[in-house]
Amino acid sequence: LVVIEHVDKHFGDLHVLRDINTVVNRGEVVVVIGPSGSGKSTLCRAVNRLETIDSGTIAIDGVPLPEEGRALAKLRADVGMVFQSFNLFAHKTVLENVTLGPMRVRGVKKKDAVKKATELLDRVGVADQAAKMPSQLSGGQQQRVAIARSLAMNPKLILLDEPTSALDPEMINEVLDVMVGLAQEGMTMIVVTHEMGFARKAADRVLFMADGAIVEEAAPEQFFTNPQSERAKDFLSKIL
Ligand code: ATP
Ligand code: MG
Repeated sequence: LVVIEHVDKHFGDLHVLRDINTVVNRGEVVVVIGPSGSGKSTLCRAVNRLETIDSGTIAIDGVPLPEEGRALAKLRADVGMVFQSFNLFAHKTVLENVTLGPMRVRGVKKKDAVKKATELLDRVGVADQAAKMPSQLSGGQQQRVAIARSLAMNPKLILLDEPTSALDPEMINEVLDVMVGLAQEGMTMIVVTHEMGFARKAADRVLFMADGAIVEEAAPEQFFTNPQSERAKDFLSKIL
């Protein structure tokens, strides 16, 4: 589904992505971990073209990422993104947050958008919050709305960049449970997270990044119990 080949990127003198190569197949869950500043967010953002790349290619369904215009809008609709900071529309209700994209971008009729949004909010466990404003919800509830909003577009792929790291501990599991559910239903996901429980339960593969490069790529069990590189051993000793 996603083919990333020889991707390089600099921010000025800083080499943030170094010859990144990987493939994410349909239905796969790939967890990206690594130290702060290793390029995890930049890689995610590049897949959604929120960030340009200097060289190499990223293709989705065999089509290289579009540069601009309508094709780019379509890409953003096909590739959902969930951020650490929820990024809900503050001046729209929870329900409107979920119906807006499908109505504006996909041309879905309001009645159908509301029906689908209601189902999705129910699925992530916040149907009773539909009429509220985002600021009236807990962090965990807001993040579940953000996931519902992204699902409403029927994405081919969802990118989640540290979706639980801004949450209080007691809210982390409610969001992880939703993510595990999505994984089990076959959603293709790239997830930046240090939640090892999630990686072990849901990931097909772990990508370990350091200094802008993919240093290791392995099944979760193998990576956590038997990391190959010194960088990964050092990193795991600090977070486990
Ligand atoms: P974290 O775990 O802290 O989120 P990360 O692995 O997601 O880190 P990135 O956000 O991808 O790391 O950043 C990679 C490097 O690029 C960092 O050194 C960061 O300071 C730098 N960087 C990120 N965005 C920009 C930008 N817009 N301009 C300049 N440098 C940037
Ligand atoms: Mg990041």
